[in-house]
Amino acid sequence: MIVDMKRGASKAEVDEVVKRAESLGLDVQLNLGTDKTVVAILGSNTGQLSTDIFAVLPGVESVTRIMKPYKLASREFKNKDSIVSVNGVEIGGNRIVVMAGPCAVESEEQLREIARVVKDSGASILRGGAFKPRTSPFSFQGLKTAGLELLSSASKQFDLPVITEVVDPGDVDLVSKHSDILQVGSRNMQNYSLLTNIGKTRCPVVLKRGFSCTVTEWLTAADYLLAEGNSQVILCERGIRTFEDSTRFSLDLSSIPVIKKYSHLPIIVDPSHTAGHYSLVPALAKGAIAAGADGLLIEVHPNPKEALVDGLQSLTPSDFSRLMKELSLIARSVGRDI
Ligand code: PEP
Ligand code: MN
Repeated sequence: MIVDMKRGASKAEVDEVVKRAESLGLDVQLNLGTDKTVVAILGSNTGQLSTDIFAVLPGVESVTRIMKPYKLASREFKNKDSIVSVNGVEIGGNRIVVMAGPCAVESEEQLREIARVVKDSGASILRGGAFKPRTSPFSFQGLKTAGLELLSSASKQFDLPVITEVVDPGDVDLVSKHSDILQVGSRNMQNYSLLTNIGKTRCPVVLKRGFSCTVTEWLTAADYLLAEGNSQVILCERGIRTFEDSTRFSLDLSSIPVIKKYSHLPIIVDPSHTAGHYSLVPALAKGAIAAGADGLLIEVHPNPKEALVDGLQSLTPSDFSRLMKELSLIARSVGRDI
């Protein structure tokens, strides 16, 4: 249930709504907007309650039920676009944010080389996997803690925030000590204990879309993060499984305007895992920006032929630098900067 307070409602009036909800055993989340407060009343039995319970309280403008399964990620709860701030880099504002780097951190030299490329080409966040959830248990699983340490030292040296994936719910604290953004991979979008643990931190998080999940399931998964009080949530479309097999996954470009319609959360796109092939990445990246994405997550490797993971879909430094220039034209044409 969403309780819209009147413009200028007092703190005491908001507190009374909260107290009433808590007396019924319900949870509450507040959206303290600049001009008015919205109170989300959450709980499994709100469907059986009359909206009048809250509508009669002083300072209440209106009470509505959110019919969708997701509540906190919805525009009903928060209409204004959310902006996630990562060490001064804003995601969800006018500027398109590019996060780039290797699929996996392989060595100090590899990471430093690519961090320089990322920075020189105008991207603002360095990506690199330390824990790699691979389809096969026999594939390279990442450098783990040593990889995290390389990421945080490259971050300091190049003054670039970093993003890396956390796979195990027990590793959330460890990974958040080394990384500015936590990444939840496609295979873990519905790993609810992982989401709950990340929700308890205040670390920005990129929630990738499960490749067989609907937009509704994705936004409902985002509610697990938001319900714990972590509002720093960024969504990432990375392609879904369809009957089409000429690409690794099918890029669902329509999820960008759909997310913008129903949710206040920023959305970025990963063209690399969608495409599965470096030659397709630029077109998908450009399409994503044209369709309204707030940023991109792109795999770049100093020498893709030698990459331990995902070399075929990784851009070379020169291809990446060319793409960044092309993206700036697309960004400008849709009224955004890069
Ligand atoms: C990744 O970005 O490193 C990754 C494994 O992507 P996804 O979870 O989208 O497959
Ligand atoms: Mn990869």
